[in-house]
Amino acid sequence: MFRAYPTSPVCGIVPAMSESSFPAKLVDKFGRHVDYIRLSVTDRCDFRCVYCMTEDMSFVPRREILSLEELYQIAAAFTELGVKKIRLTGGEPLVRTDVMTLIQNLGALPGLRELLLTTNGSQLTTYAEPLKRAGVNRINISIDSLQADRFQRISRVGRLDKVLAGIDAVVAQGFDRIRLNSVVMMGYNEDEVLALTDYALDRNVDIAFIEEMPLGEASDHAREDTTCSNAWVRAQIERKYQLVDSPTRTAGPSRYSQVAGYRSRIGFISPVTHNFCEDCNRVRITVEGRLLLCLGNEHSVDLRAILRDGSKDKGDLKRALVASMEIKPERHHFYDRDHAQPVRLMNMTGG
Ligand code: SAM
Ligand code: SF4
Repeated sequence: MFRAYPTSPVCGIVPAMSESSFPAKLVDKFGRHVDYIRLSVTDRCDFRCVYCMTEDMSFVPRREILSLEELYQIAAAFTELGVKKIRLTGGEPLVRTDVMTLIQNLGALPGLRELLLTTNGSQLTTYAEPLKRAGVNRINISIDSLQADRFQRISRVGRLDKVLAGIDAVVAQGFDRIRLNSVVMMGYNEDEVLALTDYALDRNVDIAFIEEMPLGEASDHAREDTTCSNAWVRAQIERKYQLVDSPTRTAGPSRYSQVAGYRSRIGFISPVTHNFCEDCNRVRITVEGRLLLCLGNEHSVDLRAILRDGSKDKGDLKRALVASMEIKPERHHFYDRDHAQPVRLMNMTGG
């Protein structure tokens, strides 16, 4: 188990607030309620996807990376402030040594309703069963092509057969929901939209098509040339299937449709062509302990500095989380020349 968090005097991050006077919810200055965190457990990965990483990546030095215990402390503080849903991401979360210990501890957090994971699927034949046992409810698996050579071109090093076997392994475990994530890019995989849809429908799993976001500079292509709008992706699917929009709305940038007669939902995550920031309910924590208030802006709080300052305690951490709501930006500004674009790549962001 993790050691107890040390207790010590209050610091001056925000006006003094006793534990009992913490708000039950995290609410930003636009009235949005943050009840969902995406926790990056590593910036490392066994793939090098062209839209996510440059060919020649350098990673955060190990001493700057949060320990599993520190990640747990952050997650626990958030749940005490009303967060109900945690998604583990990265980098590739399943390459972090001993990540199952963290997942088991998170699965037992009081107040948490959903523990989710986003993975590239390469390790799922090993981890599907332990993940289910540890209380993970839903899994998202990224897959951009069903052709082995093309899959390798996009991931630079990944093996399609391992990912397909991983998908079969999680389907066999019967998670609440399984969703495939596909980034559709002109010149890479735009002609596979229907094949990927058929694959998901055949397995009763969901699939979400994601617009490539301008997070950092891609080294193999100019993003403005490859980014495919979801309106275009949807039109490809409608050449074969009739899509019915789902009445249930989720917070954030995804919108779901269904194909009559199938259980699978087809999601469209359209952060580039649509701005759904008014519904935003989430924040991200990078593996360096940077609390990122918005995917497309640099507003952040250094949680690692608080965790590693022996004079600060859990109350200080929670005060910093409450105070951070004041700087959550109203919206992102992808491709808006009047606004600075993020230089952070997705593996450093916690996708
Ligand atoms: N390694 C895991 C995976 O690939 O699922 C988790 C981390 S990955 C950064 C999370 C998600 O971000 C993946 O579905 C990936 O396709 C997506 N992603 C990465 N870079 C992106 C970008 N520039 N634009 C849109 N989606 C991106
Ligand atoms: Fe790794 Fe996921 Fe990024 Fe691909 S998208 S390089 S699998 S972190």
